[in-house]
Amino acid sequence: MFRSNAPVADKRSTVQGTPPSTRVLVIGAGYAGLLFTMRLAGKVASQHVQIALVNESDTFTERPRLHQFATNQEVQWRSLPQMLRRKNIRFIQGRVTSIDHAHHVIVVVDQQHTQHEEYDYLVYALGSVTDRRTVPGVAQYAYTLAASGPLSAAALRETLPSVQARHGHVVVSGGGATGIETAAEVASAYPHIKVHLVTREPLALFLGKSAASSIRRRLERLGVEILDQTSVTAVRAHSVVIDQGSELACDLCIWTGGFVAPPLAREAGLAVNGRNQMVVDPFLRSISHPEIYAIGDAAHPREDPGAPVRMSAVTATIMGAHGADCLSAVLRGKAPRPLSFAYLGQGIALGRHNAIGFNNYPDDKPIPPYFTGWLGHLIREGFVRLLATAVQHGAIVWPGKRRYERVQHRQQAKAKKDAMQLHRV
Ligand SMILES: Cc1cc2nc3c(=O)[nH]c(=O)nc-3n(C[C@H](O)[C@H](O)[C@H](O)COP(=O)(O)OP(=O)(O)OC[C@H]3O[C@@H](n4cnc5c(N)ncnc54)[C@H](O)[C@@H]3O)c2cc1C
Repeated sequence: MFRSNAPVADKRSTVQGTPPSTRVLVIGAGYAGLLFTMRLAGKVASQHVQIALVNESDTFTERPRLHQFATNQEVQWRSLPQMLRRKNIRFIQGRVTSIDHAHHVIVVVDQQHTQHEEYDYLVYALGSVTDRRTVPGVAQYAYTLAASGPLSAAALRETLPSVQARHGHVVVSGGGATGIETAAEVASAYPHIKVHLVTREPLALFLGKSAASSIRRRLERLGVEILDQTSVTAVRAHSVVIDQGSELACDLCIWTGGFVAPPLAREAGLAVNGRNQMVVDPFLRSISHPEIYAIGDAAHPREDPGAPVRMSAVTATIMGAHGADCLSAVLRGKAPRPLSFAYLGQGIALGRHNAIGFNNYPDDKPIPPYFTGWLGHLIREGFVRLLATAVQHGAIVWPGKRRYERVQHRQQAKAKKDAMQLHRV
């Protein structure tokens, strides 16, 4: 059952009868967390609200550019302290290592210190990471497109030039959008590297036959060898094992399949799903601890918001904005509105200055015509820039704000019909 959404009794002393400010602590400064912070700061500027944002690095990382970063393109990471200073928001650089929801405290560790930060409302926006536990050898040998650390995009940026110099061989495992973008980018940036793209499903069929064959043509033109309907069953130091035990030699493997949220919420005993995402109500509050909000890749809305929720920068941005609208309504004593949205468009990069762009309104199903080549690139680049600008200013509008209600009406009508049929039987 639901607990109250009000913060716990605050034991801080009051100054001359002024109530202490409400402390909002946002953890994770990606698309969702940063947009939430900037938007909430604008909405509660005249209220007694203190906002702090915690993030591991001091820059905003545009993850949709990490395959470009990994292949040596110039990518500009924006400074978080600079952005936040303008809005008077406190920035705490460090890694959140635990959440104590009973005492409303989190633990943040940086290189020198361990600090405890208290909150009245916690906003959980830690994003997602590649699941390294699914196949043997991935944890030890495979690179992923994490921003930093060993076997990350930053490590690839250092390593790929030497693979190119010896005309080496890279295996990209996973045929989702990230795998396609990575294979195309490596092949396009390093023409002397032989790239294999290995994917369990028929290549890009989730985008429909026409988009799938356009993507296949482009990848083949870049020299990528596609092994679809093939699984990687193990990763070794200089090879991957594929179906039936045959081995594909390579200098390195880039693993792009299977994103999960970090384990923090699960470890803290909050309600999560099988991918560690915090399960939230339509107002983006944890269903087990409603003083904790979750947004972006790390959140899983329990109710249908009118469109399928896919881990993406677009949905993270919308959830960040909607979460800020919900919390600011609660802080003003108003009723928040349920999450509701529709998709508008998507772009998948296919190497330098090339992409496929299409309309996916409203349900995330691609609709022809598809825009390829330069035009596709302009569409994808336009989306990525638009989202980065929206995040920095906390401003975004999105379509489909009535879709949640329509889903509710449909579900109620169906339940009524089923009940009447049962009654007749
Ligand atoms: C290569 C690649 C290409 C992509 N292309 C697209 C695309 O074209 N379109 C699209 O819509 N989506 C794309 N995505 C997906 C998209 O980037 C993510 O869905 C989006 O970034 C999710 O936003 P978020 O705010 O939930 O999390 P994130 O952007 O992951 O941000 C989470 C933040 O939390 C921080 N953090 C995590 N754990 C901790 C901790 N314990 N302590 C402190 N800080 C922490 C992280 O450092 C990060 O700054 C792509 C992803 C990748 C990897």
